[in-house]
Amino acid sequence: MIAIAEGLILDETALAELHGGFRGEIVGRDDLTYDQHRKVWNGSIDRRPALIARCAGVADVIASVRLCRQHGLPVAVRSGGHSFPGLSVADDSFLIDLSLMKGVRVDPDARTARVQAGVLLGELDRETQAFGLAAPSGIVTHTGVAGLTLGGGIGWIMRKYGLSVDQLRRVDVVTADGELVKASADENADLFWGIRGGGGNFGIVTEFEFDLVPLGPTVMAGPILWAMEDSPEVLRFYRDWVADAPDELMTIVVHRKAPPLPFVPESLHGKPVVMVICCWAGDVEDGEQAIRPMKEFGNPVADVCTAKPFLAHQSMFDPSFPAGRWYYFKSCDVPGLTDEIIDTTVEHSLQISSPLTAFPIWQMGGAVARVGENETAFNGRNAGFTYNIGAATATAEGFDEEREWVRNFWSALEPHFTSVYVNFLMDEGEDRVRQAYGAQKYDRLKTLKRKYDPDNVFRINQNIPPA
Ligand SMILES: Cc1cc2nc3c(=O)[nH]c(=O)nc-3n(C[C@H](O)[C@H](O)[C@H](O)COP(=O)(O)OP(=O)(O)OC[C@H]3O[C@@H](n4cnc5c(N)ncnc54)[C@H](O)[C@@H]3O)c2cc1C
Repeated sequence: MIAIAEGLILDETALAELHGGFRGEIVGRDDLTYDQHRKVWNGSIDRRPALIARCAGVADVIASVRLCRQHGLPVAVRSGGHSFPGLSVADDSFLIDLSLMKGVRVDPDARTARVQAGVLLGELDRETQAFGLAAPSGIVTHTGVAGLTLGGGIGWIMRKYGLSVDQLRRVDVVTADGELVKASADENADLFWGIRGGGGNFGIVTEFEFDLVPLGPTVMAGPILWAMEDSPEVLRFYRDWVADAPDELMTIVVHRKAPPLPFVPESLHGKPVVMVICCWAGDVEDGEQAIRPMKEFGNPVADVCTAKPFLAHQSMFDPSFPAGRWYYFKSCDVPGLTDEIIDTTVEHSLQISSPLTAFPIWQMGGAVARVGENETAFNGRNAGFTYNIGAATATAEGFDEEREWVRNFWSALEPHFTSVYVNFLMDEGEDRVRQAYGAQKYDRLKTLKRKYDPDNVFRINQNIPPA
């Protein structure tokens, strides 16, 4: 018997057996790369797993799950490591790390892509855009496809083509028993329903298969900036402009101090601005015409909404969200941008202190809202806008103040909440997870959890305990 962490004892033979056939790498606390592999995106998370199993394939995942079951080890699962509250690493856990599983196979004729769990958004876009195709995903390229998709997946082309889960055809899942099963509309349909929004609660997804949609490769996209003091008028004009926008148009509004990025004129660096960031998933000329009214409103201080490769647009905001900074979020959906919500938004945005804080308001609707609320586990398809109030500091310094700003802003919006996107939750407890799914869907998910993971092996996540 050997102690692999405090209170965690493993029999030596079992560990030797795991090491024996393992194609990937098993990293323990004494290994030189341990600190590198236990790190996650949010720098405020500092957790020490007992062992990190860096899986190279499905067989490694199965062996890891079986070992954990036999020895009662707590299982953490990591793909891109971008969980806001760091739910892909836990102290004294057995961390099943899928980040080595990077396979992507695009079939341009069938317009499908098979994507392994360790693939990041930018890696998937690189492969699909080579054929002028895309799978709907998110807006920062270093985010993991796996965690993003399992929560739903909102991004630049969702209003035209739906959420990531709306273009999902099939998944391969290693269940809590260590068995590999497939789930699709035709096979284990209940599991497929739950996987499309229910996170990692039902098993470890080792491969996703997406339907791809035509996109670009050139799109009309980018931010238009105004001084933040103009935000009351900009937001009111914006609200009316997007009210009956075509599905091709997706927008995100960001309030922040202008970052020192190449697309921002130097004179603006550090000045509070409001940006309307557009992406037109269609013909570039149609996009130019559709976006013109917003470009012509008031006195923009910069306008970099132009025709560009979709890949360039996708990575445009990567520098604003690097790994290692201290991040904190609170989120909610609201039905629309009423005058009251706009006034609250402006009041709190003007109080942003950190130059690294940037919070998005997502325009929802379009194709997302046309899928029935009960067709997938994802909830909140009728949301008007999603607030993802996030704060960032370089280190612990100033973090508490910025976190307080997030909490105050979020509380001020509380009377308007309708739901919350599960992938935008911190570690906020069961009531908030229930709120994310709605009471009825939450009960259905709990019943499904009882079927696929009755012992709650997969509990280090936005957990849905078995009914
Ligand atoms: C910079 C940044 C930008 C973002 N942008 C967007 C966006 O545009 N749109 C959007 O919808 N969301 C966005 N998000 C939120 C994002 O969807 C979630 O953080 C998501 O969980 C990230 O997935 P990951 O694989 O990187 O996470 P991880 O931290 O690896 O995992 C997240 C959760 O999923 C579980 N999990 C991971 N992989 C698997 C698997 N293969 N099988 C089963 N369970 C698994 C983990 O155990 C954990 O509970 C963003 C997050 C960040 C940090």
